[in-house]
Amino acid sequence: MATSSTTVTITGAGGQIGYALLFRIAAGDMLGPDRPVRLRLLEIPQGMRAAEGAALELQDCAFPLLHDVEVTDNARTAFEGCSIGMLVGARPRGPGMERADLLAANAGIFGPQGEAIGAGAASDVRIVVVGNPANTNALLAATAAGDVPADRFTALTRLDHNRAVGQLTEALDVRPDEIDGVAIWGNHSATQFPDVSHATVRGVPVVDALTERLGDKERAMAWLDDSFIPRVAKRGAEIIDVRGSSSVASAANAAIEHVRDEQAGTAWTSAAVVSQGEYGVPEGLVCSFPVSSDGSGYRVVEGLDLDDRSRARFEASVSELVAERDAVRELGIL
Ligand code: NDP
Repeated sequence: MATSSTTVTITGAGGQIGYALLFRIAAGDMLGPDRPVRLRLLEIPQGMRAAEGAALELQDCAFPLLHDVEVTDNARTAFEGCSIGMLVGARPRGPGMERADLLAANAGIFGPQGEAIGAGAASDVRIVVVGNPANTNALLAATAAGDVPADRFTALTRLDHNRAVGQLTEALDVRPDEIDGVAIWGNHSATQFPDVSHATVRGVPVVDALTERLGDKERAMAWLDDSFIPRVAKRGAEIIDVRGSSSVASAANAAIEHVRDEQAGTAWTSAAVVSQGEYGVPEGLVCSFPVSSDGSGYRVVEGLDLDDRSRARFEASVSELVAERDAVRELGIL
């Protein structure tokens, strides 16, 4: 008997990240070799030709797992029957743009998309927001989605997580799969807190391994504060500086891993989820935490100790999320 296909909706599908996402999803990198997909590509009218061109190329790949592709500029059509939504298209911050203007522009995108998800998505729908400001865009979509449970909405901090692992592999001269327990706390922005205090390398605490490599604990802590944390938080700017354009393939890869691990299950990664008050984060904020999944959605890993330094960094990022939420409220949107 033929396996039924999973409807995956991608917004901003004609953009750069969309182009790096589509072919890997159709090849089975996200949902595995046993789950065929139907792709729904949502674009604004100006982006339709780019998305249509990508759809032609998808046809030319003749992916066995790709059962159907539809390109549309209608959010209701795009989210009808959607089980996995990847919200990539967003309004970037223009020169001199104030935060309130940015949030208002994105509310005009993520509000209607949330409504369309509420109106027509499948009962098992799960959403990841990639388009920035991702955490608050996820909050906007979740709020507009009516009866869809808020915990179906997440935002991407897996790229930050992967960047943190990448920095440690270089500093400790180990492989990525030898590092466990890295966490990204807070907002997907420069205020995020990449945390290694629960991380291990080959079973040894990362802080001890750094201490051994750098000679003493003071140097290890200085490297974490002055090099590791800012480099992870500002890696996007570093990529733009070196590459001449923004990080695209690594962002698409992180989005694929976010969905793959949420669906297949994982003992530990990082994702922004709707807070239920964990670690004192105000309920309802979309905040990054260490999370696990048993295949039915991400849950915050609870019970971790955060020392005073860690807590101060985390709280600074949460304050930024509160300010974004309040700015949206002041606009009368939430
Ligand atoms: P990209 O595909 O490069 O990026 C899309 C979004 O992802 C941006 O908001 C960007 O935020 C964000 N992003 C998150 N992580 C990263 C990262 N690591 N590196 C780079 N970007 C990241 O943008 P394009 O301009 O190429 O494409 C966007 C497409 O979305 C366009 O085709 C446009 O037409 C479409 N669009 C669709 C909408 C809709 O479907 N309703 C609404 C708005 C746009 P940041 O800019 O902050 O880096």
